[in-house]
Amino acid sequence: MVEDTDMKEHIVCPFCGCLCDDIIIGLEGNQIKENKNGCAISKAKFLNHHDDRLEMNAPLDELVEKAAKIIANSKRLLVYGLSSTENDAHREAYKIAEVAGGVVDNTSSVCHGPTILGAQESGEAHAALAETRHRADLVIYWGSNPQFAHPRHLSRYTRAPGFYIKDGKKDRQIWVVDVRKTISATVANRFVRVAPGSDLEVLCALRAIARGKVLDVDEIGGISVKELTEIVEAMKNAKYGVLFFGLGLTQSKGRHRNIDAAIRLIQDMNVYTKWGMMPMRGHYNVAGANKTSTWQTGYPYAVDYARGYPRYQPGEYTAVDMLVRGEPDAVLNIAADPAAHFPKEAVKHLSKIPVINIDPKRNMTSLLAAVNIPTAIAGIECDGAATRMDGLPLYLKKVVDPPEGMLPDRDVLRMIYEEVRRMKK
Ligand code: SF4
Repeated sequence: MVEDTDMKEHIVCPFCGCLCDDIIIGLEGNQIKENKNGCAISKAKFLNHHDDRLEMNAPLDELVEKAAKIIANSKRLLVYGLSSTENDAHREAYKIAEVAGGVVDNTSSVCHGPTILGAQESGEAHAALAETRHRADLVIYWGSNPQFAHPRHLSRYTRAPGFYIKDGKKDRQIWVVDVRKTISATVANRFVRVAPGSDLEVLCALRAIARGKVLDVDEIGGISVKELTEIVEAMKNAKYGVLFFGLGLTQSKGRHRNIDAAIRLIQDMNVYTKWGMMPMRGHYNVAGANKTSTWQTGYPYAVDYARGYPRYQPGEYTAVDMLVRGEPDAVLNIAADPAAHFPKEAVKHLSKIPVINIDPKRNMTSLLAAVNIPTAIAGIECDGAATRMDGLPLYLKKVVDPPEGMLPDRDVLRMIYEEVRRMKK
């Protein structure tokens, strides 16, 4: 420990959907000097939070006015992002979309959007992280590589001992189902390799076997029927099972049909024993973006206000689809980097229209934005609420002051909203 360091406890880490709430931050004045309990990602993000910052290249009032003018003059505004900021900022973004008659979409449309569609089709057998730690004796990660993307998921929840699981290694089996042997697969008890693009067939085969059907083939999706039968028997015999799934399932061939089939498999398993499932949410508040969108608009993402009331249509009002069609004439991007992650055709259109970019850090989108407004980092430089991958809301704390003049996203968005309203009167 660094001498004369002021230690702040129970800090929530705002960098992945685990939202680890046991971080201890060591401060010297307004400087973060230490991060105890955080993983490598968390340490790097907290200790280097001042690096690569967007600069305020004009007074804030001027930037807000410029942004509001673009929005007020737009005919088809797209508001996008939101998964790396806190819930109050979301509310202000929805208000801007509504007053401008635009579309508001969040990053789940390119990650777990199919999970939501699957759940809307078939219901949801949800699990909780604490329940998993205390009760689960069989955990399956499907199309997910937590050791890489959620580094403390195993050590906090699936390898840790719990109330009914005395030894996280001996009393619990961890399996990984994936198209390749990932780093997570190397620490699992069992690795099941599925042929690329075959998840749907494999899930349907597991359901058929669970229902007593005889399959007259030797293998499905690269897995022998003998092994598939063993998997089903082990799932039935678990006392409490949890299926965690990632983008390997949501963004591969089948997409929401994969999730639909996975939900139905878990429903089938609940005839025999207790099973739950949970998406491995990546951005720390993408689950929150879906929740706040549902609270405010009635829908989790892909919401259009063109008619003055919210309408929902993934594929129609999702950011990539709109940009590829060349539809938006302005974009308000908040806490996301579409220029770095969207397909080329979408970025091509993004580069032709005015983009307002609100973010603490420089990124690819800031390079093409007409207006960049730097803000405070939620969970480090300002407080707020966020939602963990299992739906638990947690409170992000402010640990240091932001750079001079930088406000939270919610305050900047509120200023833009007020200005757009004034211009539209
Ligand atoms: S696992 Fe995620 S939430 Fe936990 S410390 Fe690492 S980056 Fe932060």
